[in-house]
This record gives sequence, C-alpha cells and structure tokens, in this order.
Amino acid sequence: MRAASRWAAKPGINTERAVLAVLAYLALTMASVNDVLAETPASTAVETLEVRVNNYSRASSEVIRTAQRTAAGILEQSAVRLLWLACSANNEPAENGICDKPLRRNEIVMRVLAEPNGKQFADGVFGFAVVPLMASVYFEPAYRRAKSDAAEVEVSTILGCAMAHEIGHLLLGLNSHSSIGIMRATWGRNDIQQARRGLLVFTSDQATSLKMQLRARAQN
Ligand SMILES: [Zn+2]
Repeated sequence: MRAASRWAAKPGINTERAVLAVLAYLALTMASVNDVLAETPASTAVETLEVRVNNYSRASSEVIRTAQRTAAGILEQSAVRLLWLACSANNEPAENGICDKPLRRNEIVMRVLAEPNGKQFADGVFGFAVVPLMASVYFEPAYRRAKSDAAEVEVSTILGCAMAHEIGHLLLGLNSHSSIGIMRATWGRNDIQQARRGLLVFTSDQATSLKMQLRARAQN
C-alpha cells in the first residue's frame, strides 16, 4: 500500500508540475507573441520597390534572373521587397507594352549595360545611378571580375550586388558610400567573398533609411 500510495502520489505531483510548466510556457509564448505584434508596424514592416529591368548586354536571361534573386535577397534583409518587371531583353522590347506606362512612385528602372561608355556618371566599375529613378549596372566588368584570379564567384552574384548597390544610391543618394557592407565604394577580395556567402548587405542604419525613403516616396 505504501508503495502504491507513493506511486499514486507521484503522478499527482508530476501532473501539477506539468500543468504549471504548461501555464508558464503559455504565458511566455503569449508574451513573446504580444511583443512581436507590438513591434510589427514599426520595425518589421516591409516596403516594396518595383524594378523595370532592361537588359542591353549579352547576359543571358538566366544570369539576369539569378542576379535579381541576389539583389532581392540583399534588400530583403533590410525589409525591402523588390518586384521585378521584365522590360526589354537583349534589345527586344517587352511585347505586351507593360513597360510603356509612366513610372509610378514606387518604381525605378534598372538597365544592364555591357560596358562603361566613358560618360561622367561613373560610380564604380560595376555601375552608376541617376537619382532618383534610374540605375545601371555593367555586365562585362562583372564577368571579368568573376573570371579573374580564382574569384570563385558567379557573375550573377557580382551583378546582383551591383544592382543592390545602385538601388541603394537611388534611395540613399549619391554620397552614400560606407566603409562596410554593400555600399562600399570599391569591392576587394574580401567583399567578393562576403558577397559569395550572402553577407555583403546594407548596414542597419542604411536599412532604416531605405525604408524611410520608400515611405516618403509613397506619400509624395
Ligand atoms: Zn556607389
């Protein structure tokens, strides 16, 4: 009997403890859910930017799509969602005329050019931006960099980073280079390796500014 009562008592205690543990877990869970809900409007709201892409280079549509995914991944880490609209490709305009409409407030143009043509817009070897609406990236320098000294990086990675960098200029201004991250003026070997690992991104301050600029555009 003693043994039986001991065994009878233990489940009771365990059940009580289990109930308390579940209640404590639920309380913690509810608290964290409430925290997330409270933070959502200010800190994790996603802004959207539509990008009309015109490819005037020999880059294949697959390279362009992969570059777009790279750029989108970089901006996504700053809670900015890029939506891509394929306009002219390999000098052929889009058939349905979707790119003939005037740009909306949350739209920009991205051109993929072959090479710098010597004009004074140069931002870096990989592209330039004409604030506030048009970014351009160069395919051939990105291709050469990807093939140089065992860089072990795809051309689409460099091209995608260049797209993100120039979009950064459209939203942050021409004088927005920083000493670290995707807005560095030039990319050394370490930067390329970071890019390859998806670590060449905007700083948290830049991310905040990107979202503020997009909100301002939507309101103006
Ligand atoms: Zn730049």
